Amino acid sequence: MELIRDFGVEYEDFLRDESRITGRADSISFPKNEKQVQEIMYAMHNQGIPVTVQGARTGIAGGAVPDGGHIMNLTRMNNITGMRYDSENGRFYISVQPGMLLSELRETLSKKSFDTSLWDETSKDALETLRESGEKFFTPDPTEATASIGGLIACNASGARSFKYGSTRNHIQRISAVLANGEVVSLERGKDVIAGGELKLKTESGKTVKADIMRYGMPNVKNASGYYFKDKMDVLDLFIGCEGSLGIVTQAELVLLDHPDKIYALTAFFTDEKRALEYVEELKESAHVPASIEYFNEQALDLIGIQKEKGGSFSQIPDFPKEAVCAVYTEYHGKCEKECMEAAFEYGNTMEKCGANEKNTWLAMNNISMEGLHAFRHAVPEIVNMMIDERRKEYPQLTKLGTDMAVPKGRLFDVMDMYNSDLKREGLESAIFGHIGDNHLHVNIIPRDPDDYAKGKKLYESWAERVCEVGGTVSAEHGIGKLKIALLEKMYGKEGIESMKNIKSALDPKGILCRGNLFT
Ligand SMILES: Cc1cc2nc3c(=O)[nH]c(=O)nc-3n(C[C@H](O)[C@H](O)[C@H](O)COP(=O)(O)OP(=O)(O)OC[C@H]3O[C@@H](n4cnc5c(N)ncnc54)[C@H](O)[C@@H]3O)c2cc1C
Repeated sequence: MELIRDFGVEYEDFLRDESRITGRADSISFPKNEKQVQEIMYAMHNQGIPVTVQGARTGIAGGAVPDGGHIMNLTRMNNITGMRYDSENGRFYISVQPGMLLSELRETLSKKSFDTSLWDETSKDALETLRESGEKFFTPDPTEATASIGGLIACNASGARSFKYGSTRNHIQRISAVLANGEVVSLERGKDVIAGGELKLKTESGKTVKADIMRYGMPNVKNASGYYFKDKMDVLDLFIGCEGSLGIVTQAELVLLDHPDKIYALTAFFTDEKRALEYVEELKESAHVPASIEYFNEQALDLIGIQKEKGGSFSQIPDFPKEAVCAVYTEYHGKCEKECMEAAFEYGNTMEKCGANEKNTWLAMNNISMEGLHAFRHAVPEIVNMMIDERRKEYPQLTKLGTDMAVPKGRLFDVMDMYNSDLKREGLESAIFGHIGDNHLHVNIIPRDPDDYAKGKKLYESWAERVCEVGGTVSAEHGIGKLKIALLEKMYGKEGIESMKNIKSALDPKGILCRGNLFT
């Protein structure tokens, strides 16, 4: 079959991602290896045809939605290609192709069952050592486990566990990427660095790419907006979070950590939101550092309650107290049962001090009880998407308005006040949930009609301005994609954007890679 195929109706699904916007394309490919990616890029570059890179299309910001030209879908590059053990730091590193799904990687790691037919001897030796060790895991947990590793890297995804482990960036040791002109670069953390504002990249064929990087400030919060910058930085950090606009990740070496021997999860229900926020602030300072601190407001609980009554897959979610106005979910990853008990005891004391009680609390200490809590944690975004799909039948132009902003330490109460009072004043239907440990909440406005949509959009923009004023970010984990371009400028200003565009044009002078992501 042809590597580059004409676009036909049978590929229509590839015009969309989870942002629910629909693009257009003239051709599509499903490369199986780096050589094929190069071949396609040589052809596209010569003809100046834009290329949209796709992983599993679970992105929410429209980054994988094509804006004409060619779609390169990487889901068929999904092998684990090797493993490495570093005896100095006792760590394992696993090499994967970008189309491997997070769910597949997790399953393979937990079973320790790998197809090693194409592995070299060093990798096979490392696997033997791994089999003699405890379970390992790749920590990023962006809720949607059907996302691909390439997508996680391109968006610097994070999710619930980032409170303890940080975002995807912290867990990538090496990458290979194909540039817009088909050249390959291989980058390793600690070896390929940018210093003094000059980017100097050597491609595998010996060519050099140079760019001056003018400094721009990064917010001191969890962040997935624009190109990463630090005075002295690893070059691969420029590619992590670039949303496909600088290069196509064709291979990545991921850092594996010891899987916790025991996990406890505690969900506390509160009848007063302010007290719940006090609880969150105290949890952040706990002696037992939580892996995640997640939040659900009253409307989010209402949405779950309604779906639970309807039955179906949501009915497995345990019943929660009717009087609750919000809930805080906390996960602790420990070395043993005793340590987890101590953490639960500490969180329990804090919780009672902040007005919640044991009776209104769920404690999960094993996989079975954890499943119900995970179903609870994952339910809200799913329900919101279902509601939007339903409303689009009457108003096809409607989309969810989902924020992804994070604010610096000490600003949580202010931002929550802002969301609550603005939403109430405008009478909008919404749900607030997310990664409150990182001061990072998703406000999902669920418009009933185009009027609501217009009001919601205005609110969203005004929030972005206020969040930027206090040093926050307009996207902490989903990326800018095609939907938040105006917000990126609010955050970095014209000069910051010019500096980023400078990097883009050094690596992709024809501007063909993921056209329409980050910049117009
Ligand atoms: C219900 C739901 C919940 C979610 N929750 C979270 C969450 O908690 N945290 C979070 O971080 N995200 C979350 N997401 C968003 C999404 O899962 C992540 O952004 C994920 O990283 C996207 O991976 P993907 O493979 O689907 O990428 P895609 O959607 O296919 O692509 C996303 C971007 O990455 C680029 N890209 C993909 N592969 C490559 C590659 N190999 N090389 C270069 N560029 C590439 C694309 O061009 C695009 O710009 C959620 C999504 C859903 C639907």
